[in-house]
Amino acid sequence: MNIILLGPPGAGKGTQAQKLVDSRNMVQLSTGDMLRAARTSGTEMGKTVAAVMDAGELVTDEIVIGLIREQLETAGDHGGYIFDGFPRTLPQADALGALLAEMGQSLDHAIELQVNDEILVERIVGRAAEAVAAGGTPRADDNEESLKTRLMAYYKQTSPLLGYYYAKGNLSCVDGLGTMDAVERDIAAVLDA
Ligand code: AMP
Repeated sequence: MNIILLGPPGAGKGTQAQKLVDSRNMVQLSTGDMLRAARTSGTEMGKTVAAVMDAGELVTDEIVIGLIREQLETAGDHGGYIFDGFPRTLPQADALGALLAEMGQSLDHAIELQVNDEILVERIVGRAAEAVAAGGTPRADDNEESLKTRLMAYYKQTSPLLGYYYAKGNLSCVDGLGTMDAVERDIAAVLDA
């Protein structure tokens, strides 16, 4: 079973992906995590994307499609893929469909975590504050200015994917404002239907 978690920054995609990894032995493929890892390890690509990420804009389709392709080539036996933060543009969605088809696989569900913008800002500002309280450093893009750009990127570039997957018959919507457990149950209901 291969699924996409869709939703704006702060909707809870990463949290719910982690739950599915634990409960269903699925593999989480988060392009955001891959890009942050590239930055930390100081690769050429990591240096190229740093400023774009900090500003809250999207890195090129070519880079993220390349990252996903590499991961699909290396992962072994498991309960399926959770695409978290990918695809974010229509060309990425087409590329994902083609990559899965090459592997003789397909997409089972695109699940939208529905939230509202005020809650997102609270969650992200809260996430940054928690990181500081724990003695760490918040994500460089977890600030209000970058968040505005990330939200705009979501509405302009990513939200068209809702129509795209609806038309393909893959879209399910889940209320992302409930407790973590409630959201987890609603996602499970989609996967087990
Ligand atoms: P995330 O952790 O998913 O919020 O991603 C953090 C940042 O990484 C985003 O704001 C983008 O700059 C970049 N990024 C992550 N995934 C993608 C993607 N699929 N396409 C373009 N940029 C991405």
